[in-house]
Amino acid sequence: MKTYISPWPQTAALPPFPRTVSVLGATGSIGASALKVMARHKDKFTVTALAGGRNAKRLAKLAVEFRPEFTALLTDEAAREFKSLLPSDYSPKILVGPEAYVTLATLPQADLILSSIVGAAGFPPTLAAARAGKVIALANKESLVLGGHIIRKACHESGAVILPVDSEHNALFQGLLGHSSEDGLHKLILTASGGPFRGRNRAFLKTVTRDQALAHPNWSMGAKISIDSASLMNKGLEVIEACHLYGVSVDQVDVVVHPQSIVHSLVEFADGSQIAHLGQPDMQIPIAHCMCFPERVTLDVKRLNLAEVATLTFEKPDKSAFPCLRLAFEAFQAGPSHPTVLNAANEVAVDLFLKERIHFLDIPAMIERALSDHAPIPVDTPEAILDLDREVRAQVRGRA
Ligand code: NDP
Ligand code: MG
Repeated sequence: MKTYISPWPQTAALPPFPRTVSVLGATGSIGASALKVMARHKDKFTVTALAGGRNAKRLAKLAVEFRPEFTALLTDEAAREFKSLLPSDYSPKILVGPEAYVTLATLPQADLILSSIVGAAGFPPTLAAARAGKVIALANKESLVLGGHIIRKACHESGAVILPVDSEHNALFQGLLGHSSEDGLHKLILTASGGPFRGRNRAFLKTVTRDQALAHPNWSMGAKISIDSASLMNKGLEVIEACHLYGVSVDQVDVVVHPQSIVHSLVEFADGSQIAHLGQPDMQIPIAHCMCFPERVTLDVKRLNLAEVATLTFEKPDKSAFPCLRLAFEAFQAGPSHPTVLNAANEVAVDLFLKERIHFLDIPAMIERALSDHAPIPVDTPEAILDLDREVRAQVRGRA
C-alpha cells in the first residue's frame, strides 16, 4: 500500500537528526511554541536562522539563547535595536527587509524551514523554500490561500515536502497516514471551536470590542488569527488550505463546530469510518509532530484525560451570523484569483478592526464588497498574485 505521508508525492528524504532549522516568524506565538519544543529536544535540532519582524527585543532574547548564525528583521530600525542588545561575544549575520526571509528560507545548510510569519508576507519565503526543495513545517496558511496551486507545483518539481502545522491539517495528516488517495477518501471534516462569539447573533456582534474578539476561549495565538477565529474566517482559510494540501474539492470539506477543541479534525472514508485526532489544544503537539516527523517525542504538555473532559459536543456552524465562512467557500469556488482578494481584504479589515477603526461586522462586509467588485484574472505567477494582493489592499484601505 502506498503511504500517504505528505500532501505531495515525495522524492526528498526527510533529513536525519539533528535537523538544521530556519525559523521564520520566531518572535510570534507559533515561533515561541516551536522554540519551546526545540529547547526541550536540543539533541534533535541546530537552529541556524531566526527571523522576527519588528520585535527586536524578543528576537535578541531568542538569539542569545539559541545562537543562530543568521538573523533577520523587517526594518533597519529594528535591526539597529537588535544589534545593540547582543552581547559582545556573539555577532550573527543580520539581514533586513522582505528579501531577508527568502534568503533564510533557502539557506543551503537549512533542511527544515518553519514557516510561521503571519499573513501574505509569508508567501514569498514559503514559495522560495518549496522551490528550493526544503522540508517545510507550514503554519502560514495564508501562503496556501494565495498561491496553493503555485506552491504545489513547486513542491512537485523540487521534491519539497510540506508538513502541516495548523492543528486541523495536522490532525488530517495523521488520519491519512497509511492511506493513499485511492483508498476511498470521502471527506475531510474540520473542527472549529466557534471562537469567543459562538451562539451569538448579528445584533450582539455589531457592538463587540477588540478585546472581546481577542479573548479566544481555548487557544493562545497571535492577534490576527485570534480575530480570524472570532469571525470564522480562520476556518474559511483552513477550508482552502485543506483543498490545496490534500488535493480535494471544496465539496469534500465539511466544518463542524466543536467548542471543547479536543477533536482537532476527522477524515471520513468511503466505508463510513471516520478517523479523528484528539489532543489538548496546545500547538507544541502539531509543531513537534512536523519537526520530528516521523518520530514522536515527549512534550511537556497537559495530558488529555477524557473522563475529566467528560463531554464533547458538536454543532453546525452559523454561516449567517458569521458570513466569513461562506465567503471563503464561495471565493474558492469562484476561481483562482478570488482567494487572494478574500485574503487581502480580510488582512486589511482585521488590521483596521485591531486599530478600532471599524466594527466587527464591517470585516465580512468589506470582504464581500471586495469579492463582488473583483473580475477574475489569471494568477499563474507569484508576481500576478502579489500585484493583485497590493491592489486589493489599496482599494479596501481607500474605502475605510
Ligand atoms: P503572531 O502574530 O504571534 O506572530 C507573527 C510572526 O510574524 C511574528 O514573528 C512577527 O514578527 C512576524 N511578522 C509579522 N509581519 C511580518 C512581515 N511583514 N514580515 C516578516 N515577519 C513578519 O502570529 P502567530 O504565531 O499566531 O501565527 C503565525 C502564522 O501561523 C499565521 O499564519 C497563523 O494563521 C498560523 N497559525 C497560528 C496558530 C497559532 O496557534 N498561533 C495556529 C495555526 C496556524 P514581530 O512580532 O517581530 O513583528
Ligand atoms: Mg487551525
